[in-house]
Amino acid sequence: MLAASPGERLRTLRDLLGLTQEQLENISGVKQSWISQVETASRDATEDGLRAIAEATDTPFGFFAVQPTTVPLDSLRFRKRASASKVLTRRVRTFYAESYRINEALVTAESYPTPPLPYATAEDLSPDDIEELAAQTREALRLAPDKPIPHLTRALERSGVAVAPFVLTDDPEEQPVAGGHFGVSYWGGVGEPALIGYFPGSQGDRERFTLAHEVGHLVLHTFRPRAADAEREADRFAGALLMPRERAEENISERATLREYARLKATWGVSMQALIQRGYGLDLLGETRRRSLFVQLSSKGWRKQEPVNVGREAPLLLWTLLSRKFGQRPYRPAAESLAVPPTMLRSIAPTPVETSKPSRQEPPEPSSVAVRRIGLTN
Ligand SMILES: [Zn+2]
Repeated sequence: MLAASPGERLRTLRDLLGLTQEQLENISGVKQSWISQVETASRDATEDGLRAIAEATDTPFGFFAVQPTTVPLDSLRFRKRASASKVLTRRVRTFYAESYRINEALVTAESYPTPPLPYATAEDLSPDDIEELAAQTREALRLAPDKPIPHLTRALERSGVAVAPFVLTDDPEEQPVAGGHFGVSYWGGVGEPALIGYFPGSQGDRERFTLAHEVGHLVLHTFRPRAADAEREADRFAGALLMPRERAEENISERATLREYARLKATWGVSMQALIQRGYGLDLLGETRRRSLFVQLSSKGWRKQEPVNVGREAPLLLWTLLSRKFGQRPYRPAAESLAVPPTMLRSIAPTPVETSKPSRQEPPEPSSVAVRRIGLTN
């Protein structure tokens, strides 16, 4: 009953949990040398050994029999700093691949719609092309063409783009956002699911920008995987999606002060720094003014902690799909069925916090045709 390559799955499990071979020996009692040899296929795994590891890590035994993911890990896009470590990057990739597998299983089982996103194919994209694709994306997400986006996460989820928080550790010092990772995304293409993972912990406006940036990758780079300037294109797209050009032109000018940027931040849910960049990218202010504004931000300590709090958005789609199939306490049974550690499900499909808005508390409707509506309103 063992998988064709249990060694590969064992390595995947270690990456997923962030454990060295020594650490895994310590918690499972299975010798490091055995783990090493199984992973490199220089010896066969025994069911006993794998069972001991499964038990020690609270992982369903079925994990070792799962077919590896279809996500081409090399093409995953990360929003991260160059300093992010290789070990962490590997862990994030694995976490993402397993999450995509779960997402695919859930949306397929529930016949949830796949994203109707536009996509770029041309080799060269001008800034105007990116503005246009951002406008088309708003239309695809059924958002007004020129208004602030009240809840970007919900708009994405409603349209079939799943959003998942990646909580890799309880230790805030070790959270990937501290190690330079912000988000990661993949879309299998037209008619296929899409998933955006992000690392919670920053302020609401930063998380929204990360999501918008990742949507940029889905739209701009799914069919242009070798685009030379992908990060900059995704940033431009994020600004355009969150604050369309015409509205930026009305509101941002060479004379706009920090006070005005703070006011715009409250309205648009975009950080003051991103708004300054947006204005600069549209030639609404020059380089000298941009630099002066950033010096002012620094002197007030606002580069790290800006004024004006933008509320954080909580995802709901994966929880909804999970609880509809496995009930209101889904993690344990779902983990068995999906062959994944339950801690991972708690991360990517967190139980929603009760809110005062009654619409969020309505139970999911039973018909799969109604999935578009369940609780996924703004
Ligand atoms: Zn990126």
